[in-house]
Amino acid sequence: MPEIEKKLLERIQKSGTSLRIMHVCGTHERTIAKYGLRSVLPENIEVISGPGCPVCVTPEKDVDIAIALAKSGATVVTFGDMMRVPGSAESLLDAKAEGTDVRMVYSIDDAVALANKKPELEVVFFGIGFETTVPANAAALLRNPPENFSLLASQKQTPPAIELLASDTVVDAFIAPGHVATIIGTKPFEHLAEKGFPVVVSGFEARDILLGINLLLTQTEQGVARVDNGYPRAVKPEGNPIALKMMNEVFETSESEWRGIGNIENSGLVLRQEYEEKDASKKYEDFYSASLAEIKAKAEKKDKKRCICAAILTGKAKPSQCPNFGKDCTPKNPAGPCMVSQEGMCYNWFRYSREGGSRFA
Ligand code: SF4
Repeated sequence: MPEIEKKLLERIQKSGTSLRIMHVCGTHERTIAKYGLRSVLPENIEVISGPGCPVCVTPEKDVDIAIALAKSGATVVTFGDMMRVPGSAESLLDAKAEGTDVRMVYSIDDAVALANKKPELEVVFFGIGFETTVPANAAALLRNPPENFSLLASQKQTPPAIELLASDTVVDAFIAPGHVATIIGTKPFEHLAEKGFPVVVSGFEARDILLGINLLLTQTEQGVARVDNGYPRAVKPEGNPIALKMMNEVFETSESEWRGIGNIENSGLVLRQEYEEKDASKKYEDFYSASLAEIKAKAEKKDKKRCICAAILTGKAKPSQCPNFGKDCTPKNPAGPCMVSQEGMCYNWFRYSREGGSRFA
């Protein structure tokens, strides 16, 4: 283990302070699981995962609309992970297997390029994610994409969800996501500190997480609550003003549904009225409503496996407590959204607990 990690860990191991820390980032979970950090932390320090994986929190209803659009003849394009996430009855990948035009892309720019190249297609980009991906969506719309391109937006803002969890979950301190803070800065997390929760913005290396835990311990031991920037090589207090300006120009804040959690006020980002013609959910509403009704009817008849992602995403359960974990639900055959993506809690517990990456309680 490199010297710097050793020193950070020693300080954590020597501290007798009890701390239940929540992070809200799929990439943080991946680092923690991959490097087995939970297995080296003392018993008095617990790190739990909140709702930080974008595909995990995308609600079934948005997946259903994307599938209904594909079944109605639109070309639906999205990220690879999103294709495997179950909706209420099936996934986009299932819909593709039935012959609909569903395609994987790496970015919204690929989707715009497809619309430009194939004007005969109605191309819908299913845009999911947090403040990290929203600026790219805004930039694409500001570049005046072709008429046959539209966006099905299922975008989320992180701070309102964390604030909700702070009032609902037993947690002492938060690790905030460094990439989100790169865009929005550190200020939006100050509400949490004002409520008495120590917060640290962390990067994504093992040493960043260990440093973050150290900073949270220091705050707790000093009896203070503030937002520490543990990722100053990327995060500025004011964030990225250019990205924020683009986001604000194209999107406005709205209520948004988080899978398994429910509606959270001010946690969504929807297209402003000026961009309504690019909003696939409105532009094609009449066109896909019959397919959506069929999907809902199919869902009612479906015998669903019980998935406890909602409890996992709110820090109330661990993947190993799910009866499907590793049996009826694996990364190859996911029964719930937390097993799909490399950022999903169940995926990481499955992968790294089986490959010797860490020990899990
Ligand atoms: S193991 Fe599968 S079914 Fe269980 S909570 Fe995780 S994703 Fe859901």
